This record gives sequence, C-alpha cells and structure tokens, in this order.
Amino acid sequence: MAQTTPNHTQTVFGWAAHDSSGKITPFTFKRRENGVDDVTIEILYCGMCHTDLHHVRNDWGITMYPVVPGHEITGVITKVGSNVTRFKMGDRVGVGCIAASCLDCEFCKESQENYCDKVQFVYNGIFWDGSITYGGYSKMLVAHQRFVVHVPEKLPMDGAAPLLCAGITVFCPMKDNKMLESPGKKLGVVGLGGLGHVAIKFAKAFGLHVTVISTSPSKEKEAKDRLGVDDFLLSTNSEHMQAARRSLDFIIDTVSAKHSLGPILELLKVNGTLVMVGAPDKPVELPSFPLIFGKRVVKGSMIGGMKETQEMLELCAKHNITCDVEIVTPDKINEAMDRLARNDVRYRFVIDVAGRTPESR
Ligand SMILES: [Zn+2]
Ligand SMILES: [Zn+2]
Repeated sequence: MAQTTPNHTQTVFGWAAHDSSGKITPFTFKRRENGVDDVTIEILYCGMCHTDLHHVRNDWGITMYPVVPGHEITGVITKVGSNVTRFKMGDRVGVGCIAASCLDCEFCKESQENYCDKVQFVYNGIFWDGSITYGGYSKMLVAHQRFVVHVPEKLPMDGAAPLLCAGITVFCPMKDNKMLESPGKKLGVVGLGGLGHVAIKFAKAFGLHVTVISTSPSKEKEAKDRLGVDDFLLSTNSEHMQAARRSLDFIIDTVSAKHSLGPILELLKVNGTLVMVGAPDKPVELPSFPLIFGKRVVKGSMIGGMKETQEMLELCAKHNITCDVEIVTPDKINEAMDRLARNDVRYRFVIDVAGRTPESR
C-alpha cells in the first residue's frame, strides 16, 4: 500500500473538545488533499456515540486534544481520486469508525479490517502520513475509498448515520452467531439504548423472540408498544430473573457501565452465547459457575468489516431499518453530550451538520 504523505492544505470547519472538560467549541483545522485513492465527502449528518463522550472527556486516558469526534457519518461525494471506481460525484455515502488499516494482513484480506492490528480510527487515530485523524463533527471529510460505503437510496441520511457504528456493532455479532438465521429463537438484549434499540430492530426483522433486560422499569412500555419487544425483564427483580432461567439462546449485552454477568448468564440455555458489545471501563464480574454449569460462552465483538457494513446497509434498506434519532444543531452539541451522559436520548442524537433538517433549526 502506497502510504503517501498528502499535503494538509484543505481548511475545514468543525467542532472539537480541547481538554478533559469535554466542552465542544467551533474549531477550524486542515485535512489532506484528496489523494488518488480518496474521496471527499460533504458531511450532512453525524451521529453522537458513547465513544465520543468517552473521548472528549478523556475517560480512557488516550485522547489527543484537540479531538474532533464523530464516526457515524453520512454525506455526499464532492471529489473522487483517479483510482476510485466505486464512487462518483454526488453519491450518497457513509463512513464509520475506520480511517485506515494495513490492507495486507489476513484480516484486511478478508475485509475484517476492524480486526487489523494496524487499524486506525476516524478520529483520535494516526493516519498513514502521521497526522492525527479528525472525525465527523465537521463539514467535510477526506476518506480512503476502502473505508467508504454506499448508503442505499431508500435509507434516510439522518436515520442511517448511527448504523455506521451502533448498527454494525450489533449486526456483526448477531450474524456471526447465527442469530439472523434462527427465526423463533430467543434473544436477550441487555440495555435499551442506541445499540440495544437497533439490535431489537434486526431481531424482529429476522423473526427472533426478543427479551429486553434492563434496570429501568420505565422502559417496558416503550419497548413492548413501540419496538415490538416480546418480553421485558427487570434485572433488579431477582424473582423474575430466576423465573427466566435457561430461557434464552443468545444475549447481546450493550451496557457500558460496570455490571455483573452472573445473573444475566443464568438466563441462557445450556450452550448459550453472550456477546459483549458495550465497553465498561472497569472489568465486569464474570463468575465461573454459570459458565461451567451451562457450558455457556462469553465473547466480545467490535464494529464490523467494510464488506459487512455494506451488507448491513443493504439489509436495512430491504427491511426498513433505521435508527430512531433526535436531530440536534451543532450549537446544541454540548447539551446533547450532557444528556447522552445521562442516557437521556431516544435513541441516538444526530448532528445536522449541513443544516438540512428544517425542524432542527
Ligand atoms: Zn461508536
Ligand atoms: Zn491489516
């Protein structure tokens, strides 16, 4: 792979956090020129992911300030490099978490770029030329064609944006663990937030029986009435949890706060699988008995490869799956971040970067 050093000559307007207060302010910066393998994208919408919150506040101690967050990006192509064949001017496209990978290892060769040891992310990463990457809280992005996907005409650009992280994060483990080819089987979704609500939509589209496991009784009505969830378990009610022992085939755990997996694992049938996609910054409790006595499996999963991301978007178009979003204008990003920290959003904030949504003005 030609890892050229493009000139960073293009001035871009965006929004960045400058220190661990996490406060986001307007920020002008430079992006590279559009290289031969690059496309330039006018950003229309960008979802606000929990990871953004962790980065702006330096929760994981890895933030390189100033940080321009955002990895749920949709927009329109305004420039294509001479080697680019899959895209043309005006195409509706999306960019998720990945900015670069080695393109040469076993994972890259199988389009599992997300597991490349050299993977670099769309923000707070280091690009091939040594520059720090800046994400989608900005008006324009230059991306290598490999890490860009088409957004099908049928999908709205705002509701599609969070599919690029939240969507693919739950889609891949569901596909990998055969949940999408097992109609009638029982899936548990732990946590009803940005990730959880998309997992439910996939599950319903593919005929699964869905149980939400949550600490908030207030979510039951909405989960059942609006999202079509079949059962709701309050994880703090040990009687209910006990009654549901050995009832589920799979569990997707989306919770990003520290919690114990013990009671949740008991819900799985023998041989059942729990996939963790939330990222608690402290270790979760994992008692051995529920694993041993039920031959159960606990695994992790991180976003998805580029081929799978495109496949997911096509399936979303086919089954009318989009994220439920609350559109915010760029001047309301800080307010939205504070609400995100309190999980006060149904179910994803999406920034109207280009001012295209009349109601949000
Ligand atoms: Zn994310
Ligand atoms: Zn690689």
